[in-house]
Parts: sequence; structure tokens; C-alpha cells
Amino acid sequence: MKRAFFVMAMTLSLAGCGQASKAPQVAETGTATESGELKTLQMEDGLKVTWLQDVGRKQSRNIFADASDALVDSLGLQDGVPSTISAFLAEKDGVKMLFDTGLGRKAGRVLPLLDSLGVRTSEIDYLYLTHLHGDHIGGMLDGDKVEFPNATVFVSRMEYEGWMSMPDDKKAQVVKTFGAYEKQLRLFEFGDVLPCGVLPINAVGHTPGHTVYQLGRLLVIGDLVHGAALQLANPDICASFDADKAASRASRKRILEYAHDNGLLMAGMHLPAPAFLKR
Ligand SMILES: [Zn+2]
Repeated sequence: MKRAFFVMAMTLSLAGCGQASKAPQVAETGTATESGELKTLQMEDGLKVTWLQDVGRKQSRNIFADASDALVDSLGLQDGVPSTISAFLAEKDGVKMLFDTGLGRKAGRVLPLLDSLGVRTSEIDYLYLTHLHGDHIGGMLDGDKVEFPNATVFVSRMEYEGWMSMPDDKKAQVVKTFGAYEKQLRLFEFGDVLPCGVLPINAVGHTPGHTVYQLGRLLVIGDLVHGAALQLANPDICASFDADKAASRASRKRILEYAHDNGLLMAGMHLPAPAFLKR
């Protein structure tokens, strides 16, 4: 049944997203529009991606217990590590995809920023979630009201089932949110091909089924990195939010290397503004 859905979705989405070109390129010198909390990049394969800053902030160095004071001092990060809470809108052939949703209307800017772009939440076709922490699913509900009534919502099966086996107090927001989205939810396995050719990649560690998504030359890295100034050069350093530290380190190293080797543009939910990165 699930497979049938994906085949159907792929067929439909190819009608909406066109055939994937063989060697899409990032237009690094191409169109880019930018403000303090938005940046749109036009990629050469017809993909338009917009960074939406939910919250700009510094992360306390205290969440990086693996980092020595000497390292933190040498990088001038005693007062915190530049970071954001971010989400990304991707558009291709008239299809609108949102990667994560930020904290929600009361605390974050993602939803007002979509409004400012003239994108109605009812126009989002696909919502791809990297994982189910509150700063990623918070924008899905406004009180009890579903914000994305027409979106198919994608979550890795490992992530969803991992949360469902947690204690009630930990999973309350997840249970409430996905109760409201029950009919729109699609669970996938790593290795499936999702609509518009989106590839979910196993990046577990931060959470039970933490997912990175590749779309052409774009790699949405979720919470692989919380403090870029520390962790890019030292991927062994974890944030205190990483649930399984060993798995998180292994995923961080593997995915950063993959992005580098393939010249992918990374978009990260906690990268510093503007939250794109190419190495
Ligand atoms: Zn997060």
C-alpha cells in the first residue's frame, strides 16, 4: 500500500516537477535576493530555494561540552556560537515544498515570512520534516488549527516510531501535532524516492530517525550542525541536544564528507544566517 502511494506520488510529482536533469548545477553567482531573514537562491536545475529565518540567536558554548575552553577561546566564541532556527522553502515547476516549520506563530518568523513572500500555507504541497523537535514542527499547528491543510507530510518511519515509544510527557507535542495531521502523514524508509525526486538520507543520532534530504544539488541537513564555527572543523563535537552522541558524530562526519565530495549546497536549520553553506 505504501509502495503504491510512492509510485503514484512519483508519477504525479514528475508531472509537476519535470524530469530531473542529469547534472544540475548550483548557480552560485546567479540570482540571489537577501534580507536579514530571507535569502532566495535560484539554482540552475530550475529549483528555487529560500532560507526563512525563524529566530536568529547565539548558542551558548555550554551546550558543546566536548569543546575545550582553549578551543572556544581561540575561536572567540566565549559569548556564544552564531546560529539560527531556520526553515527552507523549495519551489520547482510550480510545486511548493517546505522543509521544517520553525517554532510557530507565537515565537518564530517562518509563517509571517511565507506570508510576506505571497505564499499561502494552503499552497504548500509537501512538508518534509528532518525530525520532530519543537523548533521543527512548532509551525504545523496554530493552537489546534492545522497550518498546512493541503500538504502531504513526510517523516521517516524510524523517527516517528522512535518518538511514539517515548514517555508521554516527552512526546506530547508530537502526539497532538500528528493527531491533527493523521490523514496527511506519510512515513518513509531511507532509500525511498519521495515526490519531486527528494531523497531522504539516514542521518540518525540527533534523534532516532533524523533525516537529511537531497534535492538535486541541495542538501537540507536538519540538525546535523548546531554550532558551525565549532563543529565544521571538529565534527566530533556534539551539541547537548544530540540524543545518541556516537551515532550523531558518525552521521555528521559522513554527511559533511558526502556534501563536500559532491559539491552540494547545504541548507541547515541551525547554521548561522544566511543558513546556506558550501565547502
Ligand atoms: Zn533543532
